[in-house]
Amino acid sequence: MAEAGSFADKVKQQADIVRVVGEYVRLKKTGKDFSGLCPFHQEKTPSFTVSPTKQIFYCFGCGKGGDVYNFIMEMEKCEFPDAVRVVAEKCGIAIPRQKERSPEERKENQQRTLLVEMHREAQSFFVKQLEGTLEGKAARAYLEDRGIDKDAIARFGIGYAPSGGDPLLRNLKSKYNEKLLVDSGLVSRDQSSGRFFDRFRRRITFPISNESGKIVAFGCRALGDDQPKYLNSPETPIYSKSNVLYHMDRAKEGIRREDFAILVEGYMDAIAVARAGISNVVASCGTSLADSQIKLLGRFTRRVIVNYDPDAAGQSATERSLSLLLEQDFEVRVLALPPVGDKKADPDLFIREKGKDAYLKLLKEAPPYVDYLIARARQMDLTTGEGKRHAVNFLLPYVQKIPNRILRSEWATRIAQQLRLEEPVLRAALSKAAAERRSELKIQPELMGRSAKPVERLLIRMLAEAEGFRRELAQQLQNARLYHGLETEKIFAALVLASLAGQPLQATEVAAVLDERDRRLLFEILFEEANEPTWEEAMSCIEALQNRQAERELADVQRSIESNPTAPEMRGLLEKKQELMRRLAAAR
Ligand SMILES: [Zn+2]
Repeated sequence: MAEAGSFADKVKQQADIVRVVGEYVRLKKTGKDFSGLCPFHQEKTPSFTVSPTKQIFYCFGCGKGGDVYNFIMEMEKCEFPDAVRVVAEKCGIAIPRQKERSPEERKENQQRTLLVEMHREAQSFFVKQLEGTLEGKAARAYLEDRGIDKDAIARFGIGYAPSGGDPLLRNLKSKYNEKLLVDSGLVSRDQSSGRFFDRFRRRITFPISNESGKIVAFGCRALGDDQPKYLNSPETPIYSKSNVLYHMDRAKEGIRREDFAILVEGYMDAIAVARAGISNVVASCGTSLADSQIKLLGRFTRRVIVNYDPDAAGQSATERSLSLLLEQDFEVRVLALPPVGDKKADPDLFIREKGKDAYLKLLKEAPPYVDYLIARARQMDLTTGEGKRHAVNFLLPYVQKIPNRILRSEWATRIAQQLRLEEPVLRAALSKAAAERRSELKIQPELMGRSAKPVERLLIRMLAEAEGFRRELAQQLQNARLYHGLETEKIFAALVLASLAGQPLQATEVAAVLDERDRRLLFEILFEEANEPTWEEAMSCIEALQNRQAERELADVQRSIESNPTAPEMRGLLEKKQELMRRLAAAR
């Protein structure tokens, strides 16, 4: 782990766990700590807590806890060295050259760096083509026609890939080898002739950035009638379409601030909405939403308004996304834009024709997803039994995904009313569906309920926090064997050992030697609200433990007396009993 003086230790000292965790979880200040919805289990009320003073986190729901590295390892599913690297990067701390990395890793890393660099060069190439060429002028005219002016072009880095066949390739060829060029997805290879050529030709280019704002791919729209209309970068070592949401790098702040995200289909839609001054918009980019995209979104908010195209493809994309979002416990609303004139309106067209205020108004009024779905079901033929069955089958899977039983039941009633169905029949169908669902997560009894008496809790906290006297306290506890036999004995033993070592406490290292129940209890205690501990308090806690020790001894002595020992022993026992009783009486 983070050994004292190591690079990992230095990074940990400079890193602020609240800031690092805050990039993944919306944190709210509660007292001296911060809390938010746990990213490791699904919940509706926050039980995930971060302590800026102790630089640790703990979830009272699922029991995950630790330091900033434990958090990153869990979150990014990576090993310790990678977690150190991630935290260092986030905090802008230069990473010393790693000699221990395997040659393959180094090579892959190098390749990724080069690919990012190549995308940056391609980007400036495309931008220049749009600005300064004859072909680019036609592209500019097209964009202008779609309402995208100079400002928007600059703001979203829109460019143009010319028709020549290999102008970009010629630009990149001198700097990058063939394999890398093909790996980038910017260049294709003709199967029969083996010749290389530009993947994107005669297309408007939209740079796609990853979450940290680095261009990793392009989405391109044909300028003429070329097919396909939209062509994107393929999967590459730096780009996986299911991990990226268009505009996420710029939407993050707005999403966090507004506590909801608007999800649209294409980059033109995202651009139109963002230009209307609504920055918390992301696009899934043609593909239907993927699990990892939802996870990415979930780091910033649990509320989404889905605003896909109103055509059939958009509707089914909406419905697919709905299922996925509901599974991940998102609160979802759906904005289905009304037609503009006789045209079905996507966000781009709607805002262009009706203006941003009209859009904002509809956004505010966007109904919960179930209303949207009921409206869809009502468009089906409900005059026949067959039609009704069809409508119910359409709705059931969504209702099933509502995690809350009461809500589920409320929706069942509403659906029955709206579709004029007999409620008992619908409920029967629902519970049948529910029965087929995976049963709820069972709480593991062995992980629950280790408790500690207030005195023990207080002492544990002092051993962890009271820099002024924790060493002395540890000494006293150890000398008098005061914690032996307590339920919390193991926690005490670990903390005493750490305190006697005379170094600042590393809660995670102490936790590492404990079993699961003790580890949880330790974290829970560390997150209790409490005043600065004093030595007087410590002494009265010690006294309380001494008394408890005396009570235990007294009970032992009493048992021995009752088991009828021989006379000489009896005398000693009686004396001992007297002494213990005196001590206890004095304490009261
Ligand atoms: Zn949790």
